[in-house]
Amino acid sequence: MVHWSPFVVSFKKRYPWVQLAGHAGNFQAGEYGRLLKRYCECEQQCLQKLMTDSLRPHVPGYYGVVQKDDHDYNLMDDLLADFDSPSIMDCKMGSRTYLEEELTKARERPRLRKDMYDKMIAVDPGAPTEEERAKQGVLKPRYMQWRETLSSTATLGFRIEGIKRADGTCNTNFKKTKHREQVMQALEDFVDGNTQILKLYLQRLEELRSALEQSQFFRTHEVVGSSLLFVHDASGKAKVWMIDFGKTVPLPTPQTLDHRTPWVEGNREDGYLWGLDNLIDIFSTMLLE
Ligand code: ATP
Ligand code: MG
Ligand code: MG
Repeated sequence: MVHWSPFVVSFKKRYPWVQLAGHAGNFQAGEYGRLLKRYCECEQQCLQKLMTDSLRPHVPGYYGVVQKDDHDYNLMDDLLADFDSPSIMDCKMGSRTYLEEELTKARERPRLRKDMYDKMIAVDPGAPTEEERAKQGVLKPRYMQWRETLSSTATLGFRIEGIKRADGTCNTNFKKTKHREQVMQALEDFVDGNTQILKLYLQRLEELRSALEQSQFFRTHEVVGSSLLFVHDASGKAKVWMIDFGKTVPLPTPQTLDHRTPWVEGNREDGYLWGLDNLIDIFSTMLLE
């Protein structure tokens, strides 16, 4: 006798997915609380290695490459799936957000960039030099280095890219959030003054720091443009993960980084742990106040 029993698939609840950075078309919803990010080989290599590294609990689970509508995607856990109306923050880590090789490449064929000039004056009309103003263009290396000094990237080793609060308000305008006090204010708003959430975040950041200090992967990679994704909701859950490995590249053996030594061109140091130290220090200070 054949028994018909309903085939139960527990689809995760539908929710508006939130993307705080990057190009809008880069992500697609997947099934079972997963999502698809437009394929990038560098990221694929990293996510694959991370699945067997001590950082495994601190990154989204990775499930390989899938195709959809003629494009390749990396399939990974949607970190928002277990939250209800989450508050989300993307913090880009490190004291520079371009790779050394990008700087070298940018110098190879020097070209005046009108698009970068326009971006520059949109943020700070006084930033271009006389010469740049006359030519209505800037060189890419100059633009790259100027951009890092606007936010807290150069001074604190991280910057806030975007915050979406549970009430739906979203702010991605932190390009000039630079000073410790400004960062603290933004974090205070993000957690809505909830010290319990602050404590959980701090704990999670300290765990992450220990894992990073143990990690073979971390020691042997230049980690640039990677973010920490902070997520909490009204239930009191608060977690942090590392995301975005599109610019995380392996070093030639036997080179390693400590991620705290200041960057000088050629040493490939990225300031990731220095930034995390500062972030942990800021969270700790907020809890004392
Ligand atoms: P960019 O390089 O400009 O930062 P990107 O295209 O590499 O952008 P990511 O930085 O990886 O994209 O992600 C952009 C945003 O998408 C993040 O700020 C976050 O809001 C969301 N996001 C990325 N990965 C995940 C994930 N695994 N789960 C939930 N949200 C995610
Ligand atoms: Mg990113
Ligand atoms: Mg990226």
